[in-house]
Amino acid sequence: MKLKDVWKKKEVTLSFEAFPPKKDSDFASVASAVEKIAQLKPDFMSVTYGAGGGTSAYTGKIAQIVQAQGVTALAHLTCVSSDRDRIHHELDALCQAGIENILALRGDYPEGYDPSAPRDYRYARDLVEEIRAYGGFSIGGACYPEGHVECPSQREDLRHLKEKVDCGVDFLVTQMFFDNSALYSFLYRAQQVGITVPVLAGIMPVTNAAQMTRILSLSGTTLPNRFRMILDKFRERPDAMKQAGIVYAAEQMVDLVANGVRGVHVYTMNKPDVAAGIAENLSKVLGRT
Ligand code: FAD
Repeated sequence: MKLKDVWKKKEVTLSFEAFPPKKDSDFASVASAVEKIAQLKPDFMSVTYGAGGGTSAYTGKIAQIVQAQGVTALAHLTCVSSDRDRIHHELDALCQAGIENILALRGDYPEGYDPSAPRDYRYARDLVEEIRAYGGFSIGGACYPEGHVECPSQREDLRHLKEKVDCGVDFLVTQMFFDNSALYSFLYRAQQVGITVPVLAGIMPVTNAAQMTRILSLSGTTLPNRFRMILDKFRERPDAMKQAGIVYAAEQMVDLVANGVRGVHVYTMNKPDVAAGIAENLSKVLGRT
């Protein structure tokens, strides 16, 4: 199913993100985790592409595993180190695998990358245009409630976002955030510049305090003091940290749904128990039982 049609029928969606294995030997365990998450019957599941130093070769395969469970897959695709032939090869493969939805991303620059060198694609919007011209896909894009780390101002970032949406983006997924007021302020500003596509709130249930410190330093996401206290209190107790992270994320989501967001997209980090904890907390709120 094309995701652009989902919000014509549904007021709010619940979706999960998975990431592919980095090496062959991890394939079976990732596939099993993804199957378990898909069995919770989210509205769709996204599968990252080459993120975290991993290979991009398995994105399509994991997306097929999602769809084999009867759940719509959203395959991520990045363009930063790709040329047109490579992108067309990926689009052909996704098409043949029956994947109809792509999250079109620029991707992070690898070490030693010269962004000013001439290439087929510079920004995600170039990839959006390519996919739109290829045809047959519903296209999503990324957005940043607190601004993208490289952009000097949120105003400029929003202007670029509007240009990207106008190139043919059907929906947006946000980077994680821990303070809902950051999203509400962003949604207001997005509306002011004429962005009308559904914006899905990206929520990360933090289950490991050390990993969080690393992610935050890369993304520029701010931590409210309330959440900082939770990290400080439970960082040495993994079980308590996991439960507190799920509860914090669930509370965030209840508030988001009450305030009319079109969807929550949960960064489940391939952890079926975390996805199940979220689904259990939210199913009644979302009218899913
Ligand atoms: P863009 O939309 O191209 O924006 C990048 C920067 O360029 C911004 O600062 C923007 O303001 C600026 N910009 C845009 N257009 C112009 C212009 N015309 N002139 C000047 N500046 C401009 N990475 C992966 O490698 N794999 C993944 O699977 C992945 N999944 C992600 C999923 C989500 C929901 C999110 C939020 C991020 C994901 N990322 C992933 C990370 C993403 O690749 C990085 O955040 C990357 O730095 C930016 O990607 P983008 O698509 O937002 O880029």
